[in-house]
Amino acid sequence: MLMSRADVAMYAAKHTDAGFLFYDPKTDPHTQQRLQLSSDLRHALERNEFVLHYQPQINIESNCIIGVEALIRWNHPEHGMIFPDQFIPFAENTGLINPITDWVIRTAIMQCKTWQMAGTELRIAINVTAHSFQDPLFVDKLATLLCGEGTCLAPERIEIEITENILMAEIEHGAKVIGRLRDLGVSVAIDDFGTGYSSLAYLKKLPIHSVKIDKSFVLNMAEDDNDAVIVRATIDLAHNLGYLVVAEGVENRDSLDLLAVLGCDLAQGYHISHALPADALILWIKNSSWVSDEVAV
Ligand code: C2E
Ligand code: CA
Ligand code: CA
Repeated sequence: MLMSRADVAMYAAKHTDAGFLFYDPKTDPHTQQRLQLSSDLRHALERNEFVLHYQPQINIESNCIIGVEALIRWNHPEHGMIFPDQFIPFAENTGLINPITDWVIRTAIMQCKTWQMAGTELRIAINVTAHSFQDPLFVDKLATLLCGEGTCLAPERIEIEITENILMAEIEHGAKVIGRLRDLGVSVAIDDFGTGYSSLAYLKKLPIHSVKIDKSFVLNMAEDDNDAVIVRATIDLAHNLGYLVVAEGVENRDSLDLLAVLGCDLAQGYHISHALPADALILWIKNSSWVSDEVAV
């Protein structure tokens, strides 16, 4: 046990600059609890335990809701609602991420079609990890789903979110996939922008639609001048490259006002709404002050 725990600590230490780390059961993939979770995760899809929640995005200038981001949750029979940070990295390491992403895309597109048929025109943003982005069939599967099961969804209704680190890790492959998505009419957003090491020279060549400023810069931007400077610079830079800018993690009125002054295009965060189940979202839209004629409910 000593050797195996030392090994776990060494593995974790290699991912930090510290040089050494004490054993922490939280990073141990072999604990009974994690092994159990991994086995449960394998069955979660067939047992229909995943759900998507949807967090609204508003246009800052018009104050209208223009779309939503689909965020996965795992409704575990014993542990209750589990958030994605607790199982997505796990799913990536165990090869379960591709079927989960397929499920997310299928469910999000079906939901968007349902809203469309009910007269609610919303754009939906879907998170995709490196594994799924590297799936050679990714774009074809998406195209099939857009026009499957009797109804077609306009491709502009879908936005794929990938983090800048995924893109930078395999820039040539990434550029090809983004190009194919653009040909299909599906747009791409760079997620968590500012946390990675994007090469701007590369970024400007990519047919990206928008960048999402990471919430770590947005959360305290109204109080922290340094954060505000980073947000301002990112907005200017992205606009100069022709991209739309989304700020995530907007938790208060002051941040939203400041973003408006800085010319940010879209906002998402608890100040507007948390992520909601599909039915609750429609109720929220009906009663919300953020809505105008742009969305017909
Ligand atoms: P993300 O893509 O950066 O998603 C935004 C996260 O910030 C969400 O957490 C959201 O609930 C949270 N958030 C939104 N507004 C605020 C705010 O005002 N303040 C704060 N503090 N947080 C806010 P969530 O749902 O726990 O998702 C965490 C991460 O899990 C996501 O980060 C994304 O990377 C990943 N994820 C979520 N759904 C999926 C999915 O369907 N597939 C994949 N591959 N990853 C997903
Ligand atoms: Ca995202
Ligand atoms: Ca993000």
